[in-house]
Amino acid sequence: MDDDATDNHLRTTEPQADPQAESQEDPQAGDHAVVLGAGMAGLLAARVLARRFARVTVVERDELPEGEAAFRPGLPQSRHAHVLWSRGVDLIELMLPGITGKLVGAGAHLLDSPRDFLWLSPADWFRPVSGARVLLASRELLDRTVRREVLRNGRIRVRAGTPAAGLVAGPDGRSVAGVELRGGERLAARLVVDATGRTSKATAWLAEFGHPAPAVTRYDSHLGYSSRYFAIPEDPGRRWQGMYVQGRPDLPRGGVLMPQDGDRWLVTLIGNGEHAPPVRDEEFFTFARSLRSPALYDAIRDATPLSAPTAFRGTANEWRHYERMERWPAGFVVLGDAACRFNPVYGHGMTVAALAAEALAKEIRTLGPEEIAAASRRIQRRTTAAAAVPWQIATSEDMRYPETDGPPPDRATRILQSYMSRVIAGANTDPAIAARFFGVLSLTSSPGTLLDPVTMVRVLSKWRLPAAPDTADYPAHHGPPVGRAVGAERAQSRPPAAGQ
Ligand SMILES: Cc1cc2nc3c(=O)[nH]c(=O)nc-3n(C[C@H](O)[C@H](O)[C@H](O)COP(=O)(O)OP(=O)(O)OC[C@H]3O[C@@H](n4cnc5c(N)ncnc54)[C@H](O)[C@@H]3O)c2cc1C
Repeated sequence: MDDDATDNHLRTTEPQADPQAESQEDPQAGDHAVVLGAGMAGLLAARVLARRFARVTVVERDELPEGEAAFRPGLPQSRHAHVLWSRGVDLIELMLPGITGKLVGAGAHLLDSPRDFLWLSPADWFRPVSGARVLLASRELLDRTVRREVLRNGRIRVRAGTPAAGLVAGPDGRSVAGVELRGGERLAARLVVDATGRTSKATAWLAEFGHPAPAVTRYDSHLGYSSRYFAIPEDPGRRWQGMYVQGRPDLPRGGVLMPQDGDRWLVTLIGNGEHAPPVRDEEFFTFARSLRSPALYDAIRDATPLSAPTAFRGTANEWRHYERMERWPAGFVVLGDAACRFNPVYGHGMTVAALAAEALAKEIRTLGPEEIAAASRRIQRRTTAAAAVPWQIATSEDMRYPETDGPPPDRATRILQSYMSRVIAGANTDPAIAARFFGVLSLTSSPGTLLDPVTMVRVLSKWRLPAAPDTADYPAHHGPPVGRAVGAERAQSRPPAAGQ
């Protein structure tokens, strides 16, 4: 699909909401869509559906905070670092014009990666060259701002504090004709979209309609997160805004430091299996000291913590293949993490939600509500296709880690892994390769751009990968804070690399 076509269908002028219809308490199914879950996938889907349905009801289990951005239990991941890559930024801006400016006005940071970061890749440091835009903000701010912008549309309303409990069958017993809420209330709808995230009950709900469970593909690298906020310490010599020290199979520990709204840093430590990061105060620093570079520890060692460390586990890639099911009920679609979720370390989930909304917009742009319901199976396939590239990126990288559970890499994946190692090593030194690499990582460019002849020649000419498991403590373009003895303390706390 070309970008112009995307712009056009996303920018379709909205018909005015019918004020009379707005005042009805019990909407009729015909022009009504229900979206379950007010996360990123649900809100963007609601925004798109409001173009074709006179009413869209978003049913959300949580009470939704009004006013300031705030934590809510349905988004436990919001305590951890979130990046929104340029493709997601651009798509969300198209759906909700002006939102990027509002986010930045509220304290979000729109940076260039790797230019504005100290970023140690599995091979070496990236140079500070331009790659891809990335928006950094607390997930609470993203959640509140997207919700606020979506609900400005008069056709969309939200039922907060209302868990969905099941699907309601139509008269034929096969199609979905609405949703049952906890407590027994029913909402009739022509289309029901399940965007309830990783805890989705869609498989069980479909079983009640006689559908077998979908095939599931799962890769679990047993990655753990531990995160806490810090006040940003003064350092006139600091020329970076964020930091990422990546782990790799021989030392699967890493950390990311991101500026957030509220003039804070959010630091998320990550590690696989037995290297999962701790949540005790002092151990947080000890772990930070044990990474492949002391840069992150040096940055936070004198910083004032603003919160206690908090953990997140359960980061497996999991694809429930609803798109492959032989039968599919009219009037039902599963989107977002409910269909396919990713190891979050690659930062793709929200952008995939935006890509799925874009695919939904494209599929329904000439259809009426009844036709949309009838096209549910095709919509399920087309929206899920948005997951294909990020799935390949996440799973092929996770398969490098020996502790990853999941189908072993096939020959094509091993070739891809080998080539990508060279791409990353090349991107560390060659700005042209870096631009291509970050174009793909940000889901802005097709992976095919890494395989065009000019790029392949550049990549393969840099075939020599770093042989030593260690890298320079700091990149050539940025040294340690003044007065820091490089690496001395770290050496004591660092676990031996695999094979040493
Ligand atoms: C630790 C972590 C870090 C992440 N980091 C990134 C990142 O850096 N970049 C990125 O792009 N993505 C990241 N993600 C992924 C991202 O959070 C999601 O992929 C993305 O938000 C899409 O989620 P969703 O809307 O499908 O589901 P969710 O965000 O989980 O939202 C689901 C919603 O449904 C509601 N709900 C649940 N059950 C019911 C019910 N029965 N009835 C009604 N409502 C219900 C929940 O309360 C919630 O509001 C991360 C994920 C995790 C876990």
